[in-house]
Amino acid sequence: MKVVLQNLTKKYPNRNRKIKQDVVAVNDFTFEIPDGKLIGLLGPSGCGKSTTLNLISGLEKPTSGHVFFGDDDVTNLPPENRGVGLVFQNYALYPHLTVQQNIMFPLQNLKGEAKLTKEQMIAKAREAANLVQLGDYMDRRPSELSGGQQQRVAIARALVKIPRVLLLDEPLSNLDARLRLQTREEIRRIQRETGITTIFVTHDQEEAMSISDMIVVMSAGVVQQIGQPQTVYDDPVNLFVAKFLGTPPINVFEGEVRSGRLYLAGDPVLEGLDVPDQAVFAGVRPEGFVLQPEGPMACGFTNVEVMGRDTSVVSTHPAAVSTTVRAIIGAENRVEPVDGLVRFALKPNKVFLFDAKTEERISFTIGGGRDHG
Ligand code: ADP
Ligand code: MG
Repeated sequence: MKVVLQNLTKKYPNRNRKIKQDVVAVNDFTFEIPDGKLIGLLGPSGCGKSTTLNLISGLEKPTSGHVFFGDDDVTNLPPENRGVGLVFQNYALYPHLTVQQNIMFPLQNLKGEAKLTKEQMIAKAREAANLVQLGDYMDRRPSELSGGQQQRVAIARALVKIPRVLLLDEPLSNLDARLRLQTREEIRRIQRETGITTIFVTHDQEEAMSISDMIVVMSAGVVQQIGQPQTVYDDPVNLFVAKFLGTPPINVFEGEVRSGRLYLAGDPVLEGLDVPDQAVFAGVRPEGFVLQPEGPMACGFTNVEVMGRDTSVVSTHPAAVSTTVRAIIGAENRVEPVDGLVRFALKPNKVFLFDAKTEERISFTIGGGRDHG
């Protein structure tokens, strides 16, 4: 089922009564979610992710704008008539009911033609339980399951009516790291198997990047960028998006472009840029540094961290916005600081420039060559 958000806006009266101005939780969100895809809705806490999801589910009504499922305008439909499956952070299972009874629960109040016999309900519950690989746990109670299994029960319960759209709001936040990894792969598998259009909300960029067909990055109620995870990582539209994606995060420097050169703390580190003279923020991905004895960028060496396959060089730089600069280099490289300095050259396609005022991306090419923006 295709889902269309059309100029969707939601304002709330400020919770702080002294502030008269409304909170714009979602601001003019327009997006067509293709049928059968898994969309990761990503952004920091308070940016409007849950509100967006609640507008799609019908738990909230928009201040303005529309929601379509396929060609149906569902903006004024109550949640129970939209055919959505919902999963929240806290599994909200009934503790006194078994797995089977929990999964069957949404089927019990079906009316009229949709009404099912007990046998039909059990069969459907079993099917949903098998999908989340809990077929052998039908008689257990939630307290007898791990957190990951409980969340899978919640997912089975959301799937049992075969929803048109599956909405997951930070479903993995209560799980420990290992279970989080496992369960997110599980969600991806279930989504592929069922082909149900799914919107997955998270504040964890790695989580969103790893399982989504497309990600939507939000900040303060406003969509910043929509695209395939790798595309957004390689081609961020602004400093916010560049900083939000990637672990370790992008290194940001205050810099200046003069006569086609990028200067950081007075040193030219890239040449031949077709960018007018201006103050910029320069973002360098950790994998954008190349160790080079005569390299143009000199950093104060702090230490080396070996992390299996990669080596991380931690250093400082006077133009860096944060206290440390982190470079990832192949483990075969030897780091040999001279006079406490380690020198790098930069890979131009891993360097992004942003307007110092607007923080919007400035595209550039080097020496009339390939476009890096
Ligand atoms: P997220 O899920 O990304 O953390 P939310 O969608 O929950 O963000 O909230 C977005 C903004 O809207 C926040 O500033 C939040 O405080 C505000 N907000 C959410 N719900 C309400 C409400 N019922 N009343 C007032 N403000 C709200
Ligand atoms: Mg939320």
